[in-house]
Amino acid sequence: MSCLRTCVYLAWNTVEYRLEVSHHPLLDLKYLGHQSNYRRMALLTPFLPFGIALFLLESVTTRGERAGQGLAGLQGHRLLARIASGLGKGRSAGEEVARAKYRALIRAGQKIGLAEWPLGEILTWEQAANTALPPEPELDRLRLVLRGRSFWLPELEIALREQGLCLRTPLEDSLQVMHLRGESLRLPGLSLHSGEMARCNRCGEENHLETGQCLDCKNPLCGHCISCVGMGEARLCRPLYRMAGLVGEKSRKEPVEFFATASCHPAEKDAAGEFRRFAREQEPSQCLVWPARGTDPLKALFHGIAERLNSGGQVLIATPRRDQVTELTQRIKGVFPGAEVLSARSASASELGQAEVVIAATTEVISFFQKFSLVIVDESETQLLSGNRLLQRIAERATVQKGKTAFITAAPEPELLARMKNGLVHLVCLPVGANGYPLPEPQLVIEKSLLIDRRDQMELPESVAQILHQSLEGDLSQVFVFVPHAFLAQRAGEVLRRAVVLPPFNHYQEDWVFISHARDAEREEKKARFARGEFPIFVTTPVAEKPLKLSRVNVIVLFAEAEDVYTEGTLVQLAGCAGDGWPPARVWYVGNRSTKAMKGAMQKIRHLNQEAFRRGYLHPDFYLTMKAEG
Ligand SMILES: [Zn+2]
Ligand SMILES: [Zn+2]
Repeated sequence: MSCLRTCVYLAWNTVEYRLEVSHHPLLDLKYLGHQSNYRRMALLTPFLPFGIALFLLESVTTRGERAGQGLAGLQGHRLLARIASGLGKGRSAGEEVARAKYRALIRAGQKIGLAEWPLGEILTWEQAANTALPPEPELDRLRLVLRGRSFWLPELEIALREQGLCLRTPLEDSLQVMHLRGESLRLPGLSLHSGEMARCNRCGEENHLETGQCLDCKNPLCGHCISCVGMGEARLCRPLYRMAGLVGEKSRKEPVEFFATASCHPAEKDAAGEFRRFAREQEPSQCLVWPARGTDPLKALFHGIAERLNSGGQVLIATPRRDQVTELTQRIKGVFPGAEVLSARSASASELGQAEVVIAATTEVISFFQKFSLVIVDESETQLLSGNRLLQRIAERATVQKGKTAFITAAPEPELLARMKNGLVHLVCLPVGANGYPLPEPQLVIEKSLLIDRRDQMELPESVAQILHQSLEGDLSQVFVFVPHAFLAQRAGEVLRRAVVLPPFNHYQEDWVFISHARDAEREEKKARFARGEFPIFVTTPVAEKPLKLSRVNVIVLFAEAEDVYTEGTLVQLAGCAGDGWPPARVWYVGNRSTKAMKGAMQKIRHLNQEAFRRGYLHPDFYLTMKAEG
């Protein structure tokens, strides 16, 4: 990815002056001359990495000076005092301000370790005569692609090419003119504040930023963002271009028709009504959709989505699983046959501008900017993006001003729950599936002897053998055994294979234990065989994928203290792999100590069951049993 080198300039006419940074000052002079009769320009710095030049500019100017400041307004200004003191004999007021700003820039540069530089040349309007401004049709084509989006320069080039659009003017030039017009935003990947790396403008991160020389600009002051590095490096020297979407661009003549299977369970009906209310009302702007395993939360959102489409908004649905985008696109097309539904990956930029519903992978959400009236992020607890705050920020940024964002998550972050308690987040809870059975609540097993010894071996703790025996021969259930890492899958699998041929297990065979992990090429086949009940014990690492729908499966999470893998969200998800039949399946978190994530996951699952009970959503038998037991 290329960096942009820009210099700070001051341009002036007889009545006002303006400071900016540009990679091509004569282009700016041509534009400013046309627009406001600017005739002179002083180059105040050498060409520097974009983020550094912008930092220097912002250190020495006011907002007014960056937009056009009257020279007459300098009465009483210190600068004029200097001019009056005789320094400025024979020079114009504009030139005098330029000299003062140059000195201020040197001081600001020294604070961040830049060596003094000489004052650059003064360019005149005549010199800009041969510089061409981008023709209007070219800018139109660029707008078509950039509107509602956020792109690095190379990404924008690719988007234009995909669109079959060939621009004759260099892209940087067109974007500079659009910036001068105030049409689009031009930001450095990272911003400096008081000379320190302060903020990633792509993902909003403020803490996980690293300073260091980069290969592009060779500047030791450059740096990058660690938080969003998975989506390509955001750097101080790289420009990010953005343009807000048009609000109310679309308007439907007729209400969108939609076909969703009617919700028969009261929990689903209530959730649908709640979400519709959220979509309709002004405040709050965020919603937490909290579903229990085995429910279909998206179904509860269709009325709300229709609501937003009818008011002319565009809707984005983001899913963490790339492989699900196509499936989800088909599903939404089926539900809203009259609406234009597209997947972000397969559509061109101009098609996305027109689409009413866009389906994207969560990692693609980062390229949208103030475009959607409603953004729904499914399964936001998954760890594809490092942490929920990043996901929240990029979802909010993809939303138009006064738009709505909704997060579907089985393990809401404490921060989201706290904001919900303060009324800043609307809650839609779907605590029970259509069958009315409560969720299996995990049991905690602290097992000190669960460890890997120095020879990289493990022994099967007695407690785990008992749980397994109880599951297989007492509950007559198959068992998922989750371990945090691939090498542990191998170790635990081998140990179990040795154990199940011995008492108390009856007539078991070694090959009744299957082992798998995320990179296992035969994983899908093994999963299918497990689902068909061909073997009873499946040892595997947790992989974010669709849970199997089985009725008689217990879950054992081994080494549950491994917090790097087992976050609260993952633990809730793994508990959700237990069977959803009746009597309830069982779940054990087995670790050599308890963790916050384990306790949090147990508490969240219990909370949903209590909520389901309180609202009367459970199967009638539960209430009868409760009554009978007094
Ligand atoms: Zn750089
Ligand atoms: Zn970032």
